Amino acid sequence: MKNITILGSTGSIGTSALKVIEAKKEEFNVLGISGYSNFELLKEQIEKFNPKYICMGDENKAKELEIIYPEKIIYFGDEGLKTMGALDEADIVLTAISGAVGIEATVEAIKKEKRIALANKETMVAAGEYINKLLKDYPKAEIIPVDSEHSALFQSMQGSSKDEVKTLIITASGGTFRGKKLEDLKDVTVEQALKHPNWSMGRKITIDSSTLVNKGLEVIEAHMLFNIDYDNIEVLVHPQSIIHSMVEFEDSSIIAQIGVPDMKLPIQYAFTYPKREASSELERLNLRKLKELTFDEVDSEVFKGVDLAFKAGRTGKTMPCVFNSANEVAVELFLKGKIKFLEIYEIIEKAMQQHEVKEIDSLEVIKDVDKETRKWVYSNYARD
Ligand code: NAD
Ligand code: MG
Repeated sequence: MKNITILGSTGSIGTSALKVIEAKKEEFNVLGISGYSNFELLKEQIEKFNPKYICMGDENKAKELEIIYPEKIIYFGDEGLKTMGALDEADIVLTAISGAVGIEATVEAIKKEKRIALANKETMVAAGEYINKLLKDYPKAEIIPVDSEHSALFQSMQGSSKDEVKTLIITASGGTFRGKKLEDLKDVTVEQALKHPNWSMGRKITIDSSTLVNKGLEVIEAHMLFNIDYDNIEVLVHPQSIIHSMVEFEDSSIIAQIGVPDMKLPIQYAFTYPKREASSELERLNLRKLKELTFDEVDSEVFKGVDLAFKAGRTGKTMPCVFNSANEVAVELFLKGKIKFLEIYEIIEKAMQQHEVKEIDSLEVIKDVDKETRKWVYSNYARD
């Protein structure tokens, strides 16, 4: 029996992970779950999965839980999340929180040499250099990617060594606004931006998909996870989302991972790796029903998310953190109706321009840069 802690169990990835676990009750046990504000759903999950540890966003809600479930161990807030990342009984920690708040819990899980099923890409972008150094000090810790593209890259690279890889080809659906021009995007609404053609996901990542900042984050994530040079990472628009990404090798062979667009497979693979297992939750791809698989370049004149990420990634050090933090606040402001869609790019670009790059010699550096960047964006763009 493997014990799993799910950080962010009430979100889109978190609920999919619980479905994966429910279909394999004999193999996986839910040790701990964390939610932020969705109290009712968290309670439902507690009733159904009976986790020993629970973490809630705020203290008052945690106290309410303590009254309802006196036998449970209940934490709250950022400190609570850190503790949840470090539970001794855990075999696997799934990081399914949205945003860079997941960094410290991930760091704790590495220090306890857990398997980390990493969905929370913001962590790998903001703190990738730091995390990679830390992984050297804790060699038994392992990060298995859950992001579908990175799971696909990881799967495609099984049995090969890094020096045989020529190019990582990350596929992108193109998002809601694929084919649109700058003029068309000036006044798009939150509702329009939240409609993703192929994947059903949390609000933040859905906006990131529509700006292609998500793909940018994934470029940096791929660099950090697989230690492949930015010159050898490409993004290709593939609107059908059937090929989840591919790897071109030195001998010209391209290996791709393909399947239905459903996060339950990469989640399960991160749990069962290196094994592959059948599950009633996993739908099979019917190749006969596929009409076409098409590929196209990213229109970077319109969707600047990818180019900005390459720039941040190539600069390295604290710049990817700035890229991520500026975007997180920009998306939050867009979702609140405080800025226009295209201002998301402007915010990221200007935040990067004003930033003085620093060496990352501790986690504190990242936390400070994250804080400073957020403050900078709020003070310049959070108008009433
Ligand atoms: P979501 O918004 O649906 O869920 C986020 C979860 O994090 C919720 O459980 C929420 O309670 C929790 N949370 C949010 N803010 C928090 C805070 N400040 N403190 C503690 N907990 C907090 O998001 P999602 O779509 O499930 O995405 C989760 C992560 O997985 C993100 O990093 C995203 O980029 C990544 N990811 C998601 C998908 C997908 O299909 N949804 C695919 C690939 C990667
Ligand atoms: Mg992805």
